Amino acid sequence: MDFALSARAEDVCGRMWDFMREQVFPAETVYEEWRAARGHDDHAHPPVLEDLKKEARARGLWNLFHHELGGLTNLEYASVAEIMGWSPVIAPEVTNCGAPDTGNMETLMLFGTPEQKQRWLEPLLEGEIRSAFAMTEPDVASSDARNIQTSIVRDGDEYVINGRKWWTSGAADERCQIFIVMGKTDPEGAPHRQQSMILVPRDTPGLEILRHLPVFGYQDQHGHSELRLTDVRVPASNLLAGEGDGFMIAQARLGPGRIHHCMRALGMAERALALMVDRAQKRVAFGRPLAEQGTVRETIARSRMEIDQARLLVLRTADLIDKYGAKGARTEIAAIKVIAPNVACDVIDRSIQVHGGAGVSGDTPLARFYAAARTLRIADGPDAVHLRSVAKEELARERPYVG
Ligand SMILES: Cc1cc2nc3c(=O)[nH]c(=O)nc-3n(C[C@H](O)[C@H](O)[C@H](O)COP(=O)(O)OP(=O)(O)OC[C@H]3O[C@@H](n4cnc5c(N)ncnc54)[C@H](O)[C@@H]3O)c2cc1C
Repeated sequence: MDFALSARAEDVCGRMWDFMREQVFPAETVYEEWRAARGHDDHAHPPVLEDLKKEARARGLWNLFHHELGGLTNLEYASVAEIMGWSPVIAPEVTNCGAPDTGNMETLMLFGTPEQKQRWLEPLLEGEIRSAFAMTEPDVASSDARNIQTSIVRDGDEYVINGRKWWTSGAADERCQIFIVMGKTDPEGAPHRQQSMILVPRDTPGLEILRHLPVFGYQDQHGHSELRLTDVRVPASNLLAGEGDGFMIAQARLGPGRIHHCMRALGMAERALALMVDRAQKRVAFGRPLAEQGTVRETIARSRMEIDQARLLVLRTADLIDKYGAKGARTEIAAIKVIAPNVACDVIDRSIQVHGGAGVSGDTPLARFYAAARTLRIADGPDAVHLRSVAKEELARERPYVG
């Protein structure tokens, strides 16, 4: 593996940094003030995002998440996504590289029919609409997707869907027009063939949005919603791939999505470390800047070392996906999905500590970053489930020597 950035990645990273410094960081205050003025329980779309989307497109920073669209390998995109992670609410969205849309676009690219692509993929690629992915359910342990209970029953030319979902990210935003819903088409089938995925347009009768869940008290602009589906009818042609293909689609979808989260988590960690160093150099306690005091120096050093370790593993995993696909890199994807969010949590936590009271206030991005990084230890599969996969692989590994 070549550790140097390719010429193409260097060019895109340079342009992304220019965009971040000139447009994205200054927009953070505009975004926050606009939302604060309306009340944070309001999920309307801050207009500054549309301005930034135009600007990102003009700068060629659009749909970079997929090699067929943006021309970057996963390894190259890793460095670009990390930069976006410095402003994780704004940068991914305005470059059309945000979750869950990227995973949903990738799903439609892989498994959509020409009609499904025209109806839903094209406006998603243009950033005209948004989408949601509804798998998790309140009543069952959803980290084991075999437990998903929502029923999808064929009735003539239609499917009828009944169930309850929660943590459906993005559903509070009125631009979210299409839901990919996972449920059982064959409750008696083999455990990994019971589930299917189906497209449900937002305005379908019987689809109710019950509430939007806060994360550590924060209401995301796109919202994380609880849904009830009661006798929701969609045409049979809305099924993605075939009946029983739900697990196969979930695996194809979640692999690349997970690594994108990890890249952005490292961007958050880098910004937290930058803030930590700045604060430590300027703040004086007991007669000396914090940066000259032993425990703070150790905190800074540990943070640098842990970020660099995690990045190496993220880059290696991205390289493996490029060479062998998400399936070939599945154990490494599981490993970084544990490591990167945990490193981000630790570094952000230390930065909060170095900031004292300011760290938990709204005056720095640290409190929000902590909420986002901590959440990542649960979303897209909790740590325990990924550790289980890594352990399974390790226990089956052949060794050159034992003793
Ligand atoms: C902010 C946020 C956004 C999300 N967005 C989406 C979304 O858009 N769409 C969607 O479908 N879902 C989404 N989720 C849901 C998320 O993917 C689930 O919460 C996650 O998969 C865990 O499922 P669960 O909550 O049912 O936890 P459970 O399955 O009940 O697990 C709870 C805990 O049990 C423990 N556990 C589970 N299995 C094991 C094991 N094998 N060994 C040891 N311990 C274990 C773990 O500590 C785990 O955290 C989101 C969640 C959050 C918090």
